[in-house]
Amino acid sequence: MIKLSDRINQLAESETLAMTRRSRELRSQGFDVINLSIGEPDFNTPEHVKAAAKDAIDKNCTHYPPVPGYPELRQSIARKMLRDNNLVYSPEQIVVSTGAKQSLANVIMCMTNPGDEVIIPAPYWVSYKEMIKLSGAVGVFIEGKIDQDFKVTPEQIEAVITPKSKLFLFSSPCNPTGSVYTREELKAFADLFAKYPDLYIISDEIYEHISFVGHHESIAQFASIHDRVIIINGLSKGFAMTGWRLGFMAGPLEIAKACDKLQGQVTSGTCSITQKAAIAAFDTDPSTSPDIQNMVAAFSYRRDLALALLKEIPGLRTNTPDGAFYLFPEVIKYYGKSDGERIIHSGSDLCDYLMDTAYVAIVPGSAFGSLDCIRISYATSEDQLREAIRRIAEALARLK
Ligand code: PMP
Ligand code: GLU
Repeated sequence: MIKLSDRINQLAESETLAMTRRSRELRSQGFDVINLSIGEPDFNTPEHVKAAAKDAIDKNCTHYPPVPGYPELRQSIARKMLRDNNLVYSPEQIVVSTGAKQSLANVIMCMTNPGDEVIIPAPYWVSYKEMIKLSGAVGVFIEGKIDQDFKVTPEQIEAVITPKSKLFLFSSPCNPTGSVYTREELKAFADLFAKYPDLYIISDEIYEHISFVGHHESIAQFASIHDRVIIINGLSKGFAMTGWRLGFMAGPLEIAKACDKLQGQVTSGTCSITQKAAIAAFDTDPSTSPDIQNMVAAFSYRRDLALALLKEIPGLRTNTPDGAFYLFPEVIKYYGKSDGERIIHSGSDLCDYLMDTAYVAIVPGSAFGSLDCIRISYATSEDQLREAIRRIAEALARLK
């Protein structure tokens, strides 16, 4: 047996990707699986973005790009930050990476030493915890309960701040809960963080455009902490570009330079063709783009539909998410029940049961730091969504 490193042995597999892999396997065996596990828009990349990529290929834009991104791309992201967020960044403060995932990993690696603490509101996105593990830092989790719309309060955060606290890491709109912090709530966080000048804030804004409550608010807008905020964003969700692999960080120059150095040793710049296409995407104003507006309207409609259908299932409790494309129902009423063959002890058991008997792929809340819930992605067609929830209802009704 090959002796792998302790580093990799202690790392958990991404459960969102594992569930998706399982549903692809079952599908290839001929099973009619509906995949509500992966968070990716079922829409296509806008035509003008694809055209820019084709043009890049025709112009032989196929050589190594600069590690942090083409200057024109970083300028276009700086313009986007001003247009959409009223935030001023120089192109040098922006580093483009192979997805927001890499941007997050870069920043965590560049900012933490072993033993440093990273404060994370739970439920949190699946990869935060494992990235922190890889860096040797320690995750400190605070719980946002369903009754508080899965949000945490400044008091909860302050209670866990220690001299070792290095980062506060959160997403708004949130994956997996869809919760969106208001400007007032973010201001209260900023007022708290202003008292702790050694604490840096990673603000994951990848769902910025998928919000049903109006204009996106970034915690970087507050001058008292602006210089300690690192924004993570990208094109996967807002522009339906998951497969293109492009994300970015924007923040203090020193941190951007560190990310550039790290990335230069690990991956180099992300795909040259993707970068050229990304300029066309970032130059598009989402507030007037029919592509983006239609997609967000579809998600909003499906959220309402899925919420209404789930409400009819006894024993489920769901908040009303204001953004992203996930529902995060509490399912504890089903724990301890059985279909006669197996007993459901946990969200994982429930997801296995739904996969095996209803052919619906869903991710257990444990992947996101919640033992009480499961995550349903509604980024799928209305027909599929209706059919999936019908199957879920039927399978849950068999549990006594
Ligand atoms: N952050 C959050 C909250 C996400 O849900 C995801 C997954 N799409 C990412 C980051 C990573 O996105 P990307 O596809 O740009 O790597
Ligand atoms: N972020 C998406 C999700 O949460 C994509 C999968 C992943 O990258 O983990 O499902």
